[in-house]
Amino acid sequence: MKILVIGGGGREHALVRKLGQSPRVEKIWCVPGNGGISQDADCVVADPGDVDKLVAIANDTHPDLTIVGPELPLVNGISDTFTQRKWPIVAPSQRAAQLEGSKIFAKQFLERHRIATAKMYGSYDSPEPALAALDHVSWPLVIKADGLCAGKGVLVAPDRRAAGDFIDSAMGREEFGPGGRRILLEETLEGEELSFIILTDGERYSPLVPTRDHKRVFDGDRGPNTGGMGAYSSDELISPAMRDLILSHVVGPTIEGLAKEGIRYQGFLYFGLMLTASGPKVLEFNCRLGDPEAQAIVARMDFDLAEVLSDAASGRLDPSRLHWKPGASVCVVLASGGYPGKFQTNKTITGLTDIDKNSGVEILHAGTKRSGGLMVTNGGRVLGVTAPAPSIEVALEKTYGAIRKIHFEGMHYRRDIAARANRVRTAGE
Ligand code: AMP
Repeated sequence: MKILVIGGGGREHALVRKLGQSPRVEKIWCVPGNGGISQDADCVVADPGDVDKLVAIANDTHPDLTIVGPELPLVNGISDTFTQRKWPIVAPSQRAAQLEGSKIFAKQFLERHRIATAKMYGSYDSPEPALAALDHVSWPLVIKADGLCAGKGVLVAPDRRAAGDFIDSAMGREEFGPGGRRILLEETLEGEELSFIILTDGERYSPLVPTRDHKRVFDGDRGPNTGGMGAYSSDELISPAMRDLILSHVVGPTIEGLAKEGIRYQGFLYFGLMLTASGPKVLEFNCRLGDPEAQAIVARMDFDLAEVLSDAASGRLDPSRLHWKPGASVCVVLASGGYPGKFQTNKTITGLTDIDKNSGVEILHAGTKRSGGLMVTNGGRVLGVTAPAPSIEVALEKTYGAIRKIHFEGMHYRRDIAARANRVRTAGE
């Protein structure tokens, strides 16, 4: 099998590494890839959002399967374009990608299929009615920009003033770009958040191991939001009863709803859930694997990813093939000085070759490039140090043990990834 992977972050590096372990895979290209991925695949420099360019690359390379990591090519219709040409691809259709590309579309879909979600007060395409609606809501209030806003599009507003400021910057000054021109207002839910991701061929589906990510930059969930500073997976994250409830009340009705509406979906579907006192409720959909959740998930895969994804792309997914390593996994992100604000780049990374290859720890590259024989930083999130293990505690020991050997100027990372899962350790601190 020859495989084309679209994307250039830690998620794509995890996929490329795992795909490369399949005896059936003879060649992998990655667009655009990064410094670390270039050690495991042939990187092709191109904008991953440019579907025409991706068609041209596939025309040259003739992959047997294409796998899409980030959302932009999905929203730009890569799946439809490749499917029309009968090129196998793991990616939902452009219409399906609206579940992520438009929060209002997602909310209306959830309401149509009676899937539990936060109650929507209303959706607005100009600031005046949105501001007027603030007289009739409960506080805190959640405000969401409708479109893609690079992670800046959601605010949990404590009061009217914060809400008004957000509406002005999103709709009045269009600070988030076109994605902020429409907004929705919804109730605030309380509970634990959970990332629940499935793989589907449009009819059958298989849940991946559950994960939880850490969005804030500093320990103790302080500081601004990031793309994700780490993630973990553990068998103990949810009870079997909660898993069944999520499958029967959220995942099943979503897959049936998509099929009923004739929306083609072949790929990963991410449910961002709030586990509330009255059951799991959907906060958001992503039409892809999360990053860094993917790294924690791939670390626990005990099956041939290339074969399973090829089956999903051709509508023949066999959920019984997805076996998982029992226990847990952890991914800790090492970030550049200044991230998530303006960050430094071009810092030399040392220690990468000191990691014991037999330790089970994977160093997945997110923002790196090769420069004159060295590996240097080239992004906000630089590396994802990832390990599976029989328990969270052992996974943490391995991961943080490896991190101690790695260095670049300005490097920072969270020291409390999975601390809440690891009750023994938390209690002992
Ligand atoms: P979203 O992109 O919709 O997942 O929102 C980003 C983050 O905002 C979520 O991970 C939650 O932490 C928070 N959030 C979104 N919607 C709600 C809600 N209705 N109630 C409470 N928190 C929310």
